[in-house]
Amino acid sequence: MKIKQIEVSGVHATDNVRARVLIIYTGGTFGMTHDKSGALIPFDFSSIVEHLPTIKNLGLAFSVFTFETPIDSSNIRPEHWEVIGKIIFDNYSSHDGFVVLHGTDTMAYTASALSFMLQGLNKPVVLTGAQLPIIDPRSDARENLITALEIAAAKLNGQAIVPEVCIYFDYELLRGNRSKKVESMQFDAFDSGNYPPLAKAGVKIDYNQAAIRKPDNKPVSLLTNFNTNIAILKLFPGIREPVVRAVLDTGGLKAVILETYGSGNAPTSPWLIELLAKAINSDIIIVNVSQCPGGMVVQGKYETSKELKRIGVLSGADMTTEAALTKLMVLLGQYSVEACREMIEQDIAGELTT
Ligand code: ASP
Repeated sequence: MKIKQIEVSGVHATDNVRARVLIIYTGGTFGMTHDKSGALIPFDFSSIVEHLPTIKNLGLAFSVFTFETPIDSSNIRPEHWEVIGKIIFDNYSSHDGFVVLHGTDTMAYTASALSFMLQGLNKPVVLTGAQLPIIDPRSDARENLITALEIAAAKLNGQAIVPEVCIYFDYELLRGNRSKKVESMQFDAFDSGNYPPLAKAGVKIDYNQAAIRKPDNKPVSLLTNFNTNIAILKLFPGIREPVVRAVLDTGGLKAVILETYGSGNAPTSPWLIELLAKAINSDIIIVNVSQCPGGMVVQGKYETSKELKRIGVLSGADMTTEAALTKLMVLLGQYSVEACREMIEQDIAGELTT
């Protein structure tokens, strides 16, 4: 996958630049435009000023990197996360904030992954995109990008106001690893059911200081090894033993996210408990994450989750599936199974309530 750095025509850095923001354009609906035949194709980001003239009035200096071939985010892979993480890390000290333009479909996965990859972050990394392409007169792309840039540049007493990975969309700023795509037809595409918005944008941007993560006082570092030997097993009434067995018998499997009901409940069928226990005894990590978008897993609250706890299923607390998945990929890429088992239940980047 190739990356290029581009000049944006019409935006000139002046002496009174208040911040430097680095933009990474990966693709998605945001940048779609029509070719001569009317087909939708990715636009040339260097012409952004044509579509968004007010970008010149922000008083910001920009560096822009784009994927040479912008992608629909359904095609995103950990290799892309590595590239995005590296651009941020390599340009960290020379910029005040970062904006990643990304398709909405997997934005919550990328935001979650970046939050675990970029340790010691004390600058904003804001992901945004759009439900309608920027060329559409009713597009949400313009507001989403302008406000994301404002947030990436925002400082108070010389410190970034939002020193974390977040998603800005439809007038709300959400913690990245608490977000989920919840809507594909309306503009409010994201929600974070278990965590309050970090900011709301109205006439002014109202930051929820109490909810925003405090920066770690350690230098930024980047983790880029991923282990993708992970499966998601969603329970449903009537799920059959051969299906569960097939998932757990997958060669090389290192971890499974068990999507359970309510506060972490599962059928008490002996065959299910036996299969899960056997997997755990073979060093496969099983993490209990609820299918409910709000609330949290409390193993042992009901009889239907007591057995899970007893056999060593780990509690995902109030983590999203997106956060649990990317956290496992990053942790298993660095540490032993034993260390990962401990860390999965700990709060690493604001992704769960302990
Ligand atoms: N399929 C698109 C993507 O995720 C949808 C979008 O950008 O909103 O890339």
